Amino acid sequence: MAEKEHIIIESGDAVQPFQYSVGMHGSKFFNELRDNRRFMGIRCPKCKKVYIPPRGVCGKCFIEMNDWVEVGPRGTIGTFTILRFAFIDPETGGQKPIPYGYGFIKFDGADTLFQHYISVEDEGKIKIGARVEPVFSPDRKGSIRDIEYFKVID
Ligand SMILES: [Zn+2]
Repeated sequence: MAEKEHIIIESGDAVQPFQYSVGMHGSKFFNELRDNRRFMGIRCPKCKKVYIPPRGVCGKCFIEMNDWVEVGPRGTIGTFTILRFAFIDPETGGQKPIPYGYGFIKFDGADTLFQHYISVEDEGKIKIGARVEPVFSPDRKGSIRDIEYFKVID
């Protein structure tokens, strides 16, 4: 019987810098997050659904939205997972320490779910329906990382 052959695939040292525009709605969302630590959603004028992150057109009514509304900052966990296997974080290129939580959060005043990390400091308190609030980065740059994570507040 042949010995198992180990295959190693490396990406090498290739650097792939890129930039893209987050658009009008994304710019307002990230500027408010960075400058005022506010979460801005957008409401459909027809069905009144509040989207966060904001988008230009209601997915149900197919009409343009321009009615900005502040939501949160507190919300409720809609669903979550606890990650216990390490992997390379594509946003940083480094290995994210485990365990950590990741979930879908429904901000107060919003109708859609917002994805982000959840602190596992009180892991036993993480459950669907648990109340959470954001912990902001002290050095905000206008990115999703301006929120370090959400923590359970109940
Ligand atoms: Zn609508």
